[in-house]
Amino acid sequence: YDDRDGWIWLNGDLIPWRDAKLHVLSHGLHYASAVFEGERCYGGQIFKLTEHSQRLINSGRILGFEIPYTLDEINTATRDVVARNGVPDCYVRPIAWRGSEQMGVSADKARINLAIASWEWGAYYSDLKLTRAAFDRPAPTTAPVHAKAAGLYMICTISKHAAEAKGFGDALMLDYRGYVAETTGANLFLGMNGKLHTPIPDCFLNGITRQTVIELARGNGIDVVERHIKPDELRDAQEIFVTGTAAEVTPVRAIDELSFPIGPITRLLMDAYQAETRRTHADVQAAE
Ligand code: PMP
Repeated sequence: YDDRDGWIWLNGDLIPWRDAKLHVLSHGLHYASAVFEGERCYGGQIFKLTEHSQRLINSGRILGFEIPYTLDEINTATRDVVARNGVPDCYVRPIAWRGSEQMGVSADKARINLAIASWEWGAYYSDLKLTRAAFDRPAPTTAPVHAKAAGLYMICTISKHAAEAKGFGDALMLDYRGYVAETTGANLFLGMNGKLHTPIPDCFLNGITRQTVIELARGNGIDVVERHIKPDELRDAQEIFVTGTAAEVTPVRAIDELSFPIGPITRLLMDAYQAETRRTHADVQAAE
């Protein structure tokens, strides 16, 4: 991803893509003191930008650092880099990390850096099949599970690689208690007898897409039940889908030996989510 044209916002400046480098002794690289976001821009408008920027700030605070920009400054920087790259439908990746001014586990004098990149990124999943992951989502007493923190993705990359090596698209991760949690990059929903069931996000990200889809479902008269779900219950679902900024609403076609059709609730919410993300400010104002 480093050798290409484009612009990246780095610590206050828009710089050419190829020049956006950091030192090998960066604390974020050695000790995973890094937090990031994933956003999507639709027709030049970043969906739920403020929610993402706020989550980035919160993730940094959970790791014990303050990103040296305000919410408004981060929003403006994000819009600037998207505009400069000239791709109105794109993925946006802000990342904040402790710098290379200090080595060792403790690094409270290292600079907090912020970079924001954007690039074209089409559908995240196609024909999604899941297999059980070897790793579980850690307990809230094991890791800062509500931060979108780089370190939490180590087990995701290992699990996703293992799933792909077996011919699956992603891994289904359980939580530390053995309940169904999420995939390595998206939240999970089960359609059961006309209702939606989804795990309580008490040890993984309560995704912004998850929250949007819950609102859309309820707005369409579909009951949403947040509860602990045992893996054995997956076979009782008539339809399953995942949600995430990159994944949007993607039907799950199989989980190991279980297969699922693309069901009516999934179709309704795929359409509703597409409509919601493409609503312009003018549409919103007209509706009010
Ligand atoms: N869980 C994980 C592990 C993720 O990486 C993501 C993507 N950020 C999500 C859930 C979904 O979150 P969101 O809908 O806010 O993108």
